[in-house]
Amino acid sequence: MLPTLVMILIATFVVSLASLIGIFFISLRGTRKLQETIDYTVSFAIGALLSTVFCGMLHHLVEEGFGYKLVIVGILLSLLIEKIIHWRHHHGLPSKEKPFGYINLIGDALHNFVDGFVIASSFLVSLSLGFITTLSIIFHEIPQEIGDFFVLLKAKFTIKKALLFNFLVALTAILGSLFGYFVGVGIKGILPYMIAIGAGNLLYIAMTDLMPEIIEEDSKKEFATKTILMIIGLLIVYYTIRVL
Ligand SMILES: [Zn+2]
Ligand SMILES: [Zn+2]
Repeated sequence: MLPTLVMILIATFVVSLASLIGIFFISLRGTRKLQETIDYTVSFAIGALLSTVFCGMLHHLVEEGFGYKLVIVGILLSLLIEKIIHWRHHHGLPSKEKPFGYINLIGDALHNFVDGFVIASSFLVSLSLGFITTLSIIFHEIPQEIGDFFVLLKAKFTIKKALLFNFLVALTAILGSLFGYFVGVGIKGILPYMIAIGAGNLLYIAMTDLMPEIIEEDSKKEFATKTILMIIGLLIVYYTIRVL
């Protein structure tokens, strides 16, 4: 079995690769279909994240006899980070100019750093929790990175430059994971706290960032499809946890 650090680095590198996914949707540029695709993947990601938080991370904390009150700190910390950098986490397609592209990249970098941190803490708990967390973060990154890519295009970046910048910024996940790894290994007893804070962060993303996306005006049929996708996301992660 590979050492934990190697597993973490592979996982975060794979997550970083998700930043290139936008190119596969280039033909949908400017169409309604693009927003629909994003909304559907968002629905799926909500389910996957909720399962990871409740059936994976929090389940682990309770099993080990740790409290989960620190999840509140994770939620508040996520809110604070978002506020400080004016990070507009988007999955939609706002129309803004070039400076907005750069502001978005800064927020993106920080977001990916935190993702890497959460992945590292999960791998330090167990291989299976690390795997599940990585999986649901990838599910979440798919709509996120499609959104990032098209925001950069809207901000007048060329396709090449948008891909390159989005990828470079996604590599901060690796930095975050290294930070998480060394904090988790270096400070005795800190891991449960890292997991609780990570759970709060994923919960924050699912509830404040992703959920509003699928409440937007749409037909009953669309809402039903989104709900079903959310449940499928929930179940896939739930059963993966049981199998692992
Ligand atoms: Zn993310
Ligand atoms: Zn990105």
